Amino acid sequence: MIVFVLLIFGGDAFLQWIWDLVCEEGRALLMSPHWSVFAAFSAHLIFSVPFLLLDVFSPHVGWIHKYRIRRQLVGLNEWFRCASRILWKYVVGVLPLTALLLSLRRTHLPEKAPSMLQSFRECISCMLVFDTLFFMFHYTIHKIPWFYHNIHSAHHMNRETFALAAQDSSIGELLSLQSLAFLSAMLVRCHPLSEILFHLLNTWMAVEDHCGYDFPWALHRLLPCFSGAPHHSAHHQHFRGNFAPYFRHWDYIFGTSLPTAVEKRNL
Ligand SMILES: [Zn+2]
Ligand SMILES: [Zn+2]
Repeated sequence: MIVFVLLIFGGDAFLQWIWDLVCEEGRALLMSPHWSVFAAFSAHLIFSVPFLLLDVFSPHVGWIHKYRIRRQLVGLNEWFRCASRILWKYVVGVLPLTALLLSLRRTHLPEKAPSMLQSFRECISCMLVFDTLFFMFHYTIHKIPWFYHNIHSAHHMNRETFALAAQDSSIGELLSLQSLAFLSAMLVRCHPLSEILFHLLNTWMAVEDHCGYDFPWALHRLLPCFSGAPHHSAHHQHFRGNFAPYFRHWDYIFGTSLPTAVEKRNL
């Protein structure tokens, strides 16, 4: 989040400074599938760590616990088991696909960084496209039993959501979601720096969807067009509805919106 705050206040000059750094020092890394996969896995872990700490302190700190959507907490053992499952799938599935995608596409690195406004516009466009593609994919795999059992059921093993579970899915689902994210950036034809920011934002939003907390400062509380953790937690509880990951419009349009059944502490 510090990066996003710096981006907002640093303006165009800050984006240009980052882009110069990427082009001078990180050009080879940007084209390396190993580095891309390492960065993606690390980003997911780093974004999840604050929620791991909240889960550790939550049973002892009342003000944290009152923001939990469900009472049940996932233990530390399950966090570590989940991290090893994801790492294994990254090595055997995500790494080869990333190598293939990077070898297929020609990435031109322009000298000029995008302006803040351009980058913001491109990131939002990527998110809207990804949200649409994900909604169609998620709806389909729930409606066709073969797809559900062979691709998606692994993700639903986590009835109680926790941050790391965002990527605790079958290899088939991880690869599909990675392809949808690549496709979204390709369709929007965004600047490579905007694409990096979109992938980071995408990872953060998935972690927030699964974090299991409904904080008053969460994005969905500030901007109700976003779905957020209560919306996705209801999907994991009921195995239906709330198919879109980030926004609410597709579930409203197709009548698949579920009430966000936030568990009241006094029930
Ligand atoms: Zn989920
Ligand atoms: Zn699902």
